[in-house]
Amino acid sequence: MADTDTKTSDEMTIGKNRVVSFHYRLSEGGEQIEDSTSESPVLYMQGHNSMLTGLEEALEGRKAGESLTVTVPPEKGYGERREGAQQRVPKKHIVTKGKLKPGMVIQINTKEGAQEAVLLKVGLKNVDVDSNHPLAGKVLEFSVDILDVRAATDDELSHGHAHGPGGHEH
Ligand code: ZN
Repeated sequence: MADTDTKTSDEMTIGKNRVVSFHYRLSEGGEQIEDSTSESPVLYMQGHNSMLTGLEEALEGRKAGESLTVTVPPEKGYGERREGAQQRVPKKHIVTKGKLKPGMVIQINTKEGAQEAVLLKVGLKNVDVDSNHPLAGKVLEFSVDILDVRAATDDELSHGHAHGPGGHEH
């Protein structure tokens, strides 16, 4: 980042209300399952519960340019798997378009709004889904490259989230 030269060391240190951008690679059980480097970096504001707790904790006090690996247990990640999260849903409630294949994550309309769920089984009129987050109950290994750290703008502070590519764009 070209403009980091003009920032003070404190401004480049991650703490509450700092806007952080980073790339990550995520592994689970020794297998890489996500790599953000093909997309925009992740952008978030520290201290507003908009990021996994385990990542916020590990990034606190870190600086732009640093790289770190973080092990995130379920309780600081996507939570433990809940029993009873499997349900049968009429196909007409599926938002996701295209061919349905077991194992994929689909969006379904529920009384509480759109929800993501893992597709277990496809029937004629219904599907069986599990509304646990696909990464619930898993120990996650993140490899993080911190790209930039900056102070939040007044707008971002009043909204409670980061603005820009990778964050909220509205
Ligand atoms: Zn906003």
